[in-house]
Amino acid sequence: MLLEVENLSVTIGQISPLEGVGFSLDRGEILGLVGESGSGKSLTALAVTGLLPLIDGRVTAGHVRFAGRDLAALPPCALRALRGKRIGLVTQNPMTAMDPVQRIGAQVDVMSRLHLGLSAAAARARTLELLTRLRIPEAAAVCDAYPHQLSGGMKQRIVIAMALAAEPELIVADEPTTALDVTVQAQIIQLLGEEVKRRGLGLLLITHDMGVVAQVCDRVAVLYAGRIAELGPVGGIFARPAHPYTRALIDCIPREGTAPGSLTGIPGAVPSVTTYPLGCRFHPRCPRARPICSATVPPLLNGHACHNPLEGADG
Ligand code: SF4
Repeated sequence: MLLEVENLSVTIGQISPLEGVGFSLDRGEILGLVGESGSGKSLTALAVTGLLPLIDGRVTAGHVRFAGRDLAALPPCALRALRGKRIGLVTQNPMTAMDPVQRIGAQVDVMSRLHLGLSAAAARARTLELLTRLRIPEAAAVCDAYPHQLSGGMKQRIVIAMALAAEPELIVADEPTTALDVTVQAQIIQLLGEEVKRRGLGLLLITHDMGVVAQVCDRVAVLYAGRIAELGPVGGIFARPAHPYTRALIDCIPREGTAPGSLTGIPGAVPSVTTYPLGCRFHPRCPRARPICSATVPPLLNGHACHNPLEGADG
């Protein structure tokens, strides 16, 4: 298994925003980690990339194993060597990954020079090939450009090229297309999915959008308020969601023929980490809540954590 996250709990200061999270990801597989803002998705990405110390976070229980190695047991220098080389990161804002005063070509070249030891000429040939694969027109001219001269969609393709240039085994993409318009978003997600499959990489795709999950993911883990609500293959979960929160997220996907203004969204908001309710954390918003829901945490069984799953769901 390429990535195993097992019973992971994370603490930042006095608060525990992530509790008992678990999922796995194999080579050639795309796992969507989905949930609203505040569900713990980006925190999970930081744990998987060993970047929790940046926000004074620490793993208080469980494990993150990459290719069989427990990340918590690695010294900082070994973690740094893993990131960029074996684990690539694609962030929401391309400008956090790019240097605004360096030409695009040099920024992509450096990844394969540093991590694969390529010569300057070989690195540039590789950069041009990558940019062409990512359907960037006039790749040579783009290599000579600066980031501010490119559109948002082009910049995000460059960041994906930077992540791919080091030939990683795992890519963690945290809301990679949220800032882009819907058409560009669909194109970039499609390209990322194609490259991951073609190269046999693992992709952990973090998103708030079930439409993005439906487009490219093999499996999905639904997070709510720091816990897994539902986990399983995309086809099964979209056909028969068991958890009311998953159902609500699916119902938020706009479809052809959806009348403007007819999407209602999910009433209420994800609770803040300091006010997590007892029992199932979704119970204040759940139309299927029963008395047990506010008293007892539902265990994750048969792929869902719900005391009163939807009828017709597996398990
Ligand atoms: Fe709703 Fe209860 Fe299931 Fe939570 S456990 S999602 S409150 S039915």
